Amino acid sequence: MPQNDIHTKEYFHSVVFYREDCIGCTKCVRVCPTEAIRVRMGKAIIDPHRCIDCSKCVSVCPTEALRVEADKLESIYSFKYRLAVISASYEGQFAEDFGFKNALKALYHLGFDEVAEQAMITNITAEIIRDYIKIHPNIRPILSSNCPAIVRLVQVRFPSLLPNLLHIESPMSMLAKYYRDKIIREKGLKEEDIGIFLIVPSASQVTAVHQPEGNYKHLHNGAIAINEIYSKVLAMQKELEEDTRPIVSYANGLSWALSGMEAEEIATEGIETLAISGIHNVIEVLSNIEGHRLDQYHYIELRNCEQGCVGGGLNIENPFVAASRIRKLINNSEKIKIDNDYFFRLYKEGYFDVTQLEPRSMMELDKDIKTAITKMKRVKEITDMLPGIDCAVCGSPTCKALAEDIVLEKAELSDCLIRLRKLRTKKNEE
Ligand code: SF4
Ligand code: SF4
Repeated sequence: MPQNDIHTKEYFHSVVFYREDCIGCTKCVRVCPTEAIRVRMGKAIIDPHRCIDCSKCVSVCPTEALRVEADKLESIYSFKYRLAVISASYEGQFAEDFGFKNALKALYHLGFDEVAEQAMITNITAEIIRDYIKIHPNIRPILSSNCPAIVRLVQVRFPSLLPNLLHIESPMSMLAKYYRDKIIREKGLKEEDIGIFLIVPSASQVTAVHQPEGNYKHLHNGAIAINEIYSKVLAMQKELEEDTRPIVSYANGLSWALSGMEAEEIATEGIETLAISGIHNVIEVLSNIEGHRLDQYHYIELRNCEQGCVGGGLNIENPFVAASRIRKLINNSEKIKIDNDYFFRLYKEGYFDVTQLEPRSMMELDKDIKTAITKMKRVKEITDMLPGIDCAVCGSPTCKALAEDIVLEKAELSDCLIRLRKLRTKKNEE
């Protein structure tokens, strides 16, 4: 994680909280999909255990008390050899007259020695996923694990679906392994001399690099936000026009930046797929999967951001505009495929396997079952005393959440102002 340089800054993941800027408005409390936030004494309190890095809270905070902080570009210079692994949404950020090849060239000018595109291995990843579906006939549907926010959401809110997650590393990690091996072999460098940095569109990818779940491997050295380098790239247009280095791009694989394209690519040979984007849509669909209402699908693509990675909060461009550019790039690009023996062999050898994805319980009333049941009854009683309008004015996201907080002695019944007002009115009338 980036270094904590201001004492009022509280890191819980890549989302950072500036306590002094918080005005206690509760907007963040209302949108958090895992009920990770409370407002007490006029300030937000965030539970890092429940946070899935969806960055919904960041998008609604009126004072920027909540922000996403990724690694700074300067952090790449501590490595002798630097590789940028770019998310498929990167090329979509730049207008046609700037040119996606200039956008790729710019990364060399920023100090990278080599650039790899996630797009290089989308076809290989699709092949690996089709094989995974075939050798796991008893798991339906299998859920994509490409989006780290979705992996955390399943851990926090849908732990019974953990076995359904695709238990293999993401394409960005597979690429990092491929390049690290290649650079060591070809350049004779030591492991510690090589810095591999993701160029990412979302907060959850930053957290996944620094705090990987389960036994996801630490294959990257950092994650830089697209919006951190965007203006620097634009400012170089003139020098980029003069740079004649050849740029090979795998633009035909950029489709996975768009919601639905991963599912479409995997849907061959009788494989039925479905694609969902936007955290609240995903939650609805995961509830249906828990109820076995979607068992007919072999594979379901799930993305935290609306429209897929082009909708990530660390992008610059409107997601629809970026998506349209990417479609154009795909249609006009040469179809290049890279050799898949390396990736498929490592996958078959189990190198990309991910295990130990554990549940992260959202709410635990008590470790002792008997006491927990008693507390559950008390929660029900208190909930019945509350107005049931889930206004969040008390600082808890719902009336039930306030009841739980009261039972856990983290809040008081008097925190519900609506109830207090009703009681006062009633008393005045008597
Ligand atoms: S990033 Fe998402 S999960 Fe985390 S506190 Fe904010 S809204 Fe909640
Ligand atoms: S949205 Fe949350 S963090 Fe931002 S000012 Fe309101 S209560 Fe504070």
